[in-house]
Amino acid sequence: MPARLKPPSLRQRRNKASTRATLKAGGMRAPALPVRGCPCGGPVELPKPARGKRKPGRPRNPPPVCAECRGTGTLPWHHLTVAWWARLWASPMGPEYIESDVDALYITAGLVEAYWRSGGSDGRLAGEIRQEMARFGGSPLDRRRLEWGLEPPEDEQPAAPTPEPEKPRDDPRNVLRMVRPA
Ligand SMILES: [Zn+2]
Repeated sequence: MPARLKPPSLRQRRNKASTRATLKAGGMRAPALPVRGCPCGGPVELPKPARGKRKPGRPRNPPPVCAECRGTGTLPWHHLTVAWWARLWASPMGPEYIESDVDALYITAGLVEAYWRSGGSDGRLAGEIRQEMARFGGSPLDRRRLEWGLEPPEDEQPAAPTPEPEKPRDDPRNVLRMVRPA
């Protein structure tokens, strides 16, 4: 039996970029951002809060041992980096990333972190982030290049076109009708 020909809409897709994908709504859970040690060399134990009545003259909250990590020894990520990371993975691109992409994305996260920690105006860092993210579908243009088409939201999807009624001459039943004795 000869192989059935695919409809032309599918046949056209041959020889296109191997990265082609239609991105559905993502909603992936982001992997945890890496733990970064503080240069202070922590963790440093914070002084335990005094039990019972506070002695007069003693400060209510002792100042943190290290302003960067507040004595935990672990550098916190900037809230904008955390938000970027979560959005990236929750986006329709999230499911496209594979395990080995995470390491490269960690490096990008470091650049995003440096960008926000330095005041959010470093053009060199912004360029580096853009360059890195281009490999991961960071902009509409990058997604077009990777042939990552975004699926339109369900309520915006055009209704399926009504199939054209078969022309009478193509319908084998018409032939049968013609030969059927009256
Ligand atoms: Zn520290």
